[in-house]
Amino acid sequence: MQFINDWLLQHATIIRLSSFFTLLFVMASWELLAPKRTLTAAKFTRWFNNISLVILNTICVRLVLPMTAVSVAAGCSEQQWGVLNQLPFPLWLSVLLAIIALDFLIYLQHVVFHRVPLLWRLHRVHHADVDIDVTTGARFHPIEIILSMLIKFTAIVLLGTPAVAVLLFEVILNGMAMFNHSNIVLPARVDSLLRRFVVTPDMHRVHHSVLFEETNSNYGFNLSCWDRWCGTYRAQPAHGHLGMQIGLDRFREPHYLQLHHLLKIPFVSSAVTRKP
Ligand SMILES: [Zn+2]
Ligand SMILES: [Zn+2]
Repeated sequence: MQFINDWLLQHATIIRLSSFFTLLFVMASWELLAPKRTLTAAKFTRWFNNISLVILNTICVRLVLPMTAVSVAAGCSEQQWGVLNQLPFPLWLSVLLAIIALDFLIYLQHVVFHRVPLLWRLHRVHHADVDIDVTTGARFHPIEIILSMLIKFTAIVLLGTPAVAVLLFEVILNGMAMFNHSNIVLPARVDSLLRRFVVTPDMHRVHHSVLFEETNSNYGFNLSCWDRWCGTYRAQPAHGHLGMQIGLDRFREPHYLQLHHLLKIPFVSSAVTRKP
């Protein structure tokens, strides 16, 4: 285990970065070849600002947090902390259970970020994007990213998540977030088959609707079962995927696409200034 953890600690960054750029290239090309919806805002502006936010978030996490999730998991394994480090399970079973548990946790965390007003203010940055495409998947306020990391660290310590499970979960979550935010066409039969197991772009697009009841549905990122089992599943948007409006009414002004303005979204009053 020590050897695996040392190898992971050395290679985690390159594995994460290479999977991020590969998926970004694949999904961006797919969006160009078969886009689902016509974008309503200038793509260059959205991409420039969304990607700038990703770079800013990476810098903030490096500056604020002295360790990564993989290094926390490796430390717990060394100290034998957490439930899974106490149980005599084979590694593959601990990895599988940990990934499923982390996925349920991220589902619950997403629900809480919608229900608690102060946290919703942070999460509005993700929902204020007026279009949804591969870059929306990484558009989060730096404070939400840091809070999410702290919640993940706590879960890793309590669960005793193996370091390999943490890295796999981060790569899968990142890849799935890019996939299910993509502005791509999937044949209806492929979508309905896939969404029995995982969250598809059509399923997650409902979550980005301006309609309150649609925003408050389909919280999952990876497995689609959590929404079905917890009663938050909504199959399709009321106005169809091409007719629905994406974003938040409060933040439709073009300046909210700019990085320095979208960073202020959590601190702006919630009152809607424009009629839906
Ligand atoms: Zn949300
Ligand atoms: Zn989303």
